[in-house]
Amino acid sequence: MVSHPVRGEELAVVEALKVRALPEGSYDKLLEFLRMYCDVMQLVVNEIWNLNEKLSRKKLHKLFYDKLRKIGFRAHHAKEIYVYAQSIVESARSNGGKKPVLRKLTARIDKYDYKLDLDNMVLTLKLHNDYEVRLKLLAPRERVEKFRNWSNYELVVKYENGELWVSVYFKKAVKPAKPKTIMAIDLNFDNLTLAVFTLNGRLIRLKRFKTILRKILTHRIWIERIQKRYPRSWRNVKGIRKAIEKHGERIKNISWDYTHKIGDLITDLAFKHNSIIILEDLEKLRENAKKGRRFNKKLTLWFYRRVQSCVEYEAKERGLRIIRLNPRGTSSTCPRCSSKLVEDGYRTLRCNTCNFIGDRDVVATINLYKKLISKYSRCGELGVSPNASKQMQSQGVMRGNRDEAMKNHIKLYKLI
Ligand SMILES: [Zn+2]
Repeated sequence: MVSHPVRGEELAVVEALKVRALPEGSYDKLLEFLRMYCDVMQLVVNEIWNLNEKLSRKKLHKLFYDKLRKIGFRAHHAKEIYVYAQSIVESARSNGGKKPVLRKLTARIDKYDYKLDLDNMVLTLKLHNDYEVRLKLLAPRERVEKFRNWSNYELVVKYENGELWVSVYFKKAVKPAKPKTIMAIDLNFDNLTLAVFTLNGRLIRLKRFKTILRKILTHRIWIERIQKRYPRSWRNVKGIRKAIEKHGERIKNISWDYTHKIGDLITDLAFKHNSIIILEDLEKLRENAKKGRRFNKKLTLWFYRRVQSCVEYEAKERGLRIIRLNPRGTSSTCPRCSSKLVEDGYRTLRCNTCNFIGDRDVVATINLYKKLISKYSRCGELGVSPNASKQMQSQGVMRGNRDEAMKNHIKLYKLI
């Protein structure tokens, strides 16, 4: 079964299950198939390469379909071969590379040419000239169990060092839930702040997490220091290169660890509250990052992207919707009267017009929420009441005195 796009944007998760496989009986026909497949693929690649133009599906079909069928391939084998050959050529061209040479015995097989029986862990492949081969999949039950309600649409068979491997591509359509709350996330160098609002503007959760950017920066500074001390030799001397690599590895590991944990945590919470998640548009992240020191800029941006993409992936898997908003002005505009806010001590902002005082990060989340409301309440989407941000004012989120709501609710969470 193939999953169909959900109305509007398609929400689907794709994951591959890679397992070893053993044919029941001999390898002969399967190896013959793989060799044929790869030889022919190379020929098709060569031909497309020499044509030097972008071919439509129709043209590809016309050029190769009959030839491939005559050799003994099934209809969908033929399709997979020319479509895949073209994508190989295209990616080689866009990387400015040479004509691709295929060295591995591997074949992509469409769902019409295999049968997958997860109960018995048996895969039946349809080969050339109506041959069939049955493969036993060698994987523990737990690994497969996860995919029971997913659909699969394609697989890759690979023969390498005397072993046979199969990667089955699974897909799961996720149905977006009707949102009940809105989660706004503000990310800056030191903190990640998230606030959950009901659709009529009541703040129900407020959390703040430390980022690990300072930690990452320390390693980055070490790297720069080493490079500065040995400007000529750091690339060539093994010991120096190793030292740099060690810091690079640390950066990768701690950020991988952090972004996955935070992605999980945020989306679990959003799932629990049935939230739409608002993320800041990356464009503004670029602008914000401009203010940092020169080499921080790239690093900060890279880190923000990692966090966002983890949140995005996890949200997709849970069927949660994400909306990106341009956060321009969100940390400098008074959420009560829209005047410009001024600094009032450490991370605190004040409005000289209406005397509103609030934490900078919390102000940003309130403004993100308000932006979303004003964008969507007009067209009646989301079921948001048009008065939502007016109602907010009477509910303590925007009290004029020092922001009680935030003082009482913010906890500092440390992840690492
Ligand atoms: Zn104000």
